Amino acid sequence: MTARECTRCAELAATRNSVVFGAGNADADLMFVGEAPGANEDLQGLPFVGAAGKLLETLLGEIGLSRAEVFIANVLKCRPPGNRDPRPGEIDNCTPYLIAQVELVAPRVICTLGNFATKLLRDDPAGITRVHGQAEVRRIGTHTTRLFPIYHPAAALYTPRTMDFLREDFHALPALLGLPAPAAPPPAQPPAQPPPTTAEAVEREAPASAPVFAAAAAEPEQLGLF
Ligand code: URA
Repeated sequence: MTARECTRCAELAATRNSVVFGAGNADADLMFVGEAPGANEDLQGLPFVGAAGKLLETLLGEIGLSRAEVFIANVLKCRPPGNRDPRPGEIDNCTPYLIAQVELVAPRVICTLGNFATKLLRDDPAGITRVHGQAEVRRIGTHTTRLFPIYHPAAALYTPRTMDFLREDFHALPALLGLPAPAAPPPAQPPAQPPPTTAEAVEREAPASAPVFAAAAAEPEQLGLF
C-alpha cells in the first residue's frame, strides 16, 4: 500500500498537488485526526499548516506540548477540490491508510477533530456537538486507545462559543494522557451453545479446582470499526 501514488479516488488523484500523509512524532502518545488537507496543506504536503493549524499549535502550547511531539493526520490524504466535503467512497478508500497509521503510532489518545473523523473512528453517526469532550476506549484496527472527539479548529475560528468548547476540551487532554494505557478488550466469546440436557450438564460440571478467568478489564469493552 503506497499512499504517494494512490489513485483509488480518480478525481482527487487528478487534482491534488501532493498526498498529505501526516506529520509529527511517529511514536506520539497523542494523535490528531482532522478532515482533509486544504489548499495550503496540498501545496506544502503537510497537514494543518494554515490558520486552523496555527490555532492547533496555540492550543497545544497552552497544555505544554509542541507540534513536534504529537502526530497529525487526516481522514483523507488528498484535498477535495474546492474544499468540498469528503465523499463516502473517498473515506472508504482512504481509511486503510489511517488505520495503518494508528497501528504504527499506537497513541494513547486520539483526538478526532470535527465530524468526519469523529463519525469515522467512533463508527457512529452522532455529531461532534453531542459527543465532544467525552473520552471512550475504542479499538481501531489492532490498537486499543482512548478516543477524544473535539471541535475542529477551523470551526472554532469563526464561532467564539465553539472556541470556548474547544479550549475547555483541549485542557482535559493532560489528565487523559496521564491515565494508564487502556487495556485491550477481552477476546470475543464463542457463540452461545444450546442449553445442555441434565445428563450433559452433570458431565460438564467444572471440577472444584477449575481456574477462574481473570476479571474483565476495568474499562468497558467497546468494539470499534474494524
Ligand atoms: N483542516 C483539516 O481538517 N486538515 C488539515 O490538514 C487542514 C485543515
